[in-house]
Amino acid sequence: METVFDKILSKEIPADIIYEDNICLAFKDINPQAPVHVLLIPKKRIATIQDATPNDKEILGHMSTKIPEIATGLGLAENGYRVVVNCKENGGQEVPHLHYHILGGRKLKWPPG
Ligand code: 5GP
Repeated sequence: METVFDKILSKEIPADIIYEDNICLAFKDINPQAPVHVLLIPKKRIATIQDATPNDKEILGHMSTKIPEIATGLGLAENGYRVVVNCKENGGQEVPHLHYHILGGRKLKWPPG
C-alpha cells in the first residue's frame, strides 16, 4: 500500500530531509511532539516492524547505526533522546510504512499513555 512516505521518498511531496542514503531517509515530522522530532524510514516499503523479516536485517541494522549519527547531528547526543516505533492500531501507528521516531530537545515523560 502506497503511503505519504512513498511520496516523500519520490520527492513528489516536500519534506525537510536531514539525512539520506541508498537505504534510508530521515526528515522532520510535520507535527512535532518535541522540539526535535525526526522520522527515519527505510526506502524499502515495510509496513510495520511486525512485517520485518530476517531478510531485512541489513536494512534494520544499518538504520539502527544511523540513529546515533543522526541524533548527534541534531544536537541530541549529550542529553539523550527517545526512539519510538509505533506498531499497528494498538501501538498508535498511522502511516503503514515502518518509521522510527527520534524525539528530543526536552525531558520526555514516561510511561507513554
Ligand atoms: P505514526 O503515528 O504512524 O507512528 O507516525 C506517523 C508520523 O508521520 C506522525 O508523527 C505524523 O506527524 C507524521 N507525518 C504524517 N504525514 C506527514 C507528512 O506528510 N510529512 C511529514 N514530514 N510527516 C508526516
